[in-house]
Amino acid sequence: MPTHSDRTRLIASATRRGQGRRPVNPPLERASTMLSDTAGVMRDEAAGPTYGLSGTSAARALRHALADLEGAAEAFLVPSGLAAVTVPLLALLRPGDEVITTDAVYGPTRRFLSRYQAARGVTTRFLPADAGAADVVAGLTGRTRLVLMESPASLTFEMVDVAAVARACRARGVLTVVDNTWAAGLAYRPLAHGVDVSVQAVTKYVGGHSDVLMGSIAVDDPACRRAIGDVIEDLGWHVSPDDAWLALRGLRTLPLRYAEQARSALVVAEWLQGRPEVSRVLYPPLPGAAGHDLWTRDFSGAASLMGVVMKGGDGAAGAAFLDALTLFGLGYSWGGFESLITCETHQMAYRAHPPALEGELIRLHVGLEDPADLIADLEHGLAAFAAALTVP
Ligand SMILES: *Cc1c(COP(=O)(O)O)cnc(C)c1O
Repeated sequence: MPTHSDRTRLIASATRRGQGRRPVNPPLERASTMLSDTAGVMRDEAAGPTYGLSGTSAARALRHALADLEGAAEAFLVPSGLAAVTVPLLALLRPGDEVITTDAVYGPTRRFLSRYQAARGVTTRFLPADAGAADVVAGLTGRTRLVLMESPASLTFEMVDVAAVARACRARGVLTVVDNTWAAGLAYRPLAHGVDVSVQAVTKYVGGHSDVLMGSIAVDDPACRRAIGDVIEDLGWHVSPDDAWLALRGLRTLPLRYAEQARSALVVAEWLQGRPEVSRVLYPPLPGAAGHDLWTRDFSGAASLMGVVMKGGDGAAGAAFLDALTLFGLGYSWGGFESLITCETHQMAYRAHPPALEGELIRLHVGLEDPADLIADLEHGLAAFAAALTVP
């Protein structure tokens, strides 16, 4: 029924009427314990949570808004983006089951699958990073219980036709989970394309200010909801009221930050693509880049995170690039207001099918600075990179 756009709904949910008088934002409630006035109220479920683990006002408002954004019946909160990936994989898989994903899945997710899940008897097949929907579907076996997708994927930004995979999986009773962090729950709605569970690192664009770690799990199917809710309860996961409050604050301005950062990212990506030191820019919104057609078909917006494959160079040249920068912060993560940069070539060693790259792989996140200033900063980095290449 929502007739308003995302940005309107995210604001309007704060100003709902019918509650007498109150502050615009939910109160920050730090509480392990809720007191009831009478024993009767204590037993009354409609009177709200009785214990901090069930969530405070800000967490409830955040869950409601995230579920609305993802078009889900329910959104769960967990203490990190990684937990948002691992909880559904714990809830929905049993020993003997097989998971299919690709080589470009988020690194800590790969570690969870290869270490923890393997020890539980859940096996994973990592298809090549550029596996298309047909390859994923052809890879399904009688033991495949779940397909985990990221589109675009981590570090190398491959796109996959999520809807085609979801359709084939649903027909075979195979579950699908999408790590939707790049789309921020905003530019792509996995559940509307037949996916069972959409997770994201709230840490990134929703939080948006590099001061919160959190994950969300959006789900519709009642059996999946129950299984995921049970695991969260069984493991005792809880997000702090302060963090929920900050994430809710971030969520109000998510559409504006996301769109503005995408605008700047495209300017930066186009500039980089024209530079002689750069071989390829891995950014599906960039015309001509890998995945551009799928991104154009499926996405209503873009993140400001991209990969840059340099022409040649090694770790030392990559380090020279980073050390010459003054605006880009040298730091992991993304989705905040500030620009960040990392060297990622070493991560390729963990892949089952390491990609053939023409040179050093750099990842950059474009923040809310003026893109002209960011380009001037990158110009210094590229000069230092080129100088490091010519050192004997
Ligand atoms: C950062 C990230 C996560 C994990 O988020 P944390 O809050 O740092 O645990 C999960 N998936 C993707 C794609 C990410 O980039």
